[in-house]
Amino acid sequence: MSHNFVQIPFVNLNLQHQPIQAQLQQAMQAVLDAGDFVLGETLKEFETAFANISGVEYGVGVASGTDAIALGLQACNIGSSDEIILPANTFVATLIGVLRAGAKPVLVDCEPETALIDLAAAARVITPNTKAIIPVHLYGQMVSPTKLLDFAHTHNLLIFEDAAQAHLATREGYRAGSIGTAAAFSFYPSKNLGALGDGGILITKDANIAQKMLRLRNYGASYKYCHTELGTNSRLDTLQAAVLLEKLPYLSQWNSDRYQIAQQYDLELACLELLGIKPMQNHSGSGHVYHLYVIRVDDNCGIQRSSLQEQMTAAGIQTGIHYPIPCHLQPAFTNLGYQPGDFPHAEQLAGQILSLPMYPGLTHHQVKEVVAAIIHSINTQKQNLLYI
Ligand SMILES: *Cc1c(COP(=O)(O)O)cnc(C)c1O
Repeated sequence: MSHNFVQIPFVNLNLQHQPIQAQLQQAMQAVLDAGDFVLGETLKEFETAFANISGVEYGVGVASGTDAIALGLQACNIGSSDEIILPANTFVATLIGVLRAGAKPVLVDCEPETALIDLAAAARVITPNTKAIIPVHLYGQMVSPTKLLDFAHTHNLLIFEDAAQAHLATREGYRAGSIGTAAAFSFYPSKNLGALGDGGILITKDANIAQKMLRLRNYGASYKYCHTELGTNSRLDTLQAAVLLEKLPYLSQWNSDRYQIAQQYDLELACLELLGIKPMQNHSGSGHVYHLYVIRVDDNCGIQRSSLQEQMTAAGIQTGIHYPIPCHLQPAFTNLGYQPGDFPHAEQLAGQILSLPMYPGLTHHQVKEVVAAIIHSINTQKQNLLYI
């Protein structure tokens, strides 16, 4: 039996683009008219605007969030023989960035309640070669800035934020991207701020890092045709920058829409907590920007995560899993030498998490339908148990 109809999609980008379509078209037309497609004026304008709104001075647009990490680490003078701490349960791009920078990734486990990096675990893997920590502000929630700064100070480390899921998130008075030495963001279309294609940015308070990043994204050129280091070609297109600049003023409203939706999910799901369906915890109040709304389906819940997901799909409700395989168990990275069991929290979460529909424009009624579908699945499962 196949169900192709989608009643509630996982994301719906049309809802954010449709109301500003004329504006976006005008911005794109202006770039077309100016013909200034690569490293254009609008790119500079967007870079400064995004850096400033995130609380720092410099921004350098690149082709993707992955490049912002890989080149950004290099711009921070991180390379071979440097050990970099990062969580095992991040999107694989964080790890790829570290490896591409030529550094040695050192993975650590996460806290089960928030899925954020466990700093106590991080403290246990420090060596004299540890150079930096990459906190990943997963699902839109920042890793505690005060704890991070304290940790980095104690161990003399640099902080490089992976803020790809946390545009404009705040916690303890800090804004995502402004805690450490530098931060990487992604503008993949479904991120909180998305381009009409791929894009990313590295932001920093440090003029030297920004200068080096400008060279690295542009073939390592210090000035035209003089190449002082091994760079690459990774620029944010002027066209994408123009679109992002138009969308930027709406970002904080979109984030608060996400927060309201999350609040409603929290409220409506509260009755399922005793049954073992629990939202990931929010420890940052309204500073959480809910790139994703993630629940845990506990092992003792009486329903398998897979059957819950299947039944929701059958009911026309799309869900996701972010992410089903932790980095240390990815086939491409067996050479790092990690084993199943190395990061029990990350592994357990990978088997339990489910991301529910979340996007600006998701209605009150739709959230109710999503929760009703979860309750329906659990009830059906319970009946099946009784018949056995
Ligand atoms: C999306 C994402 C990236 C990579 O960004 P791309 O633009 O897709 O290359 C890196 N880290 C995290 C946590 C992400 O969610």
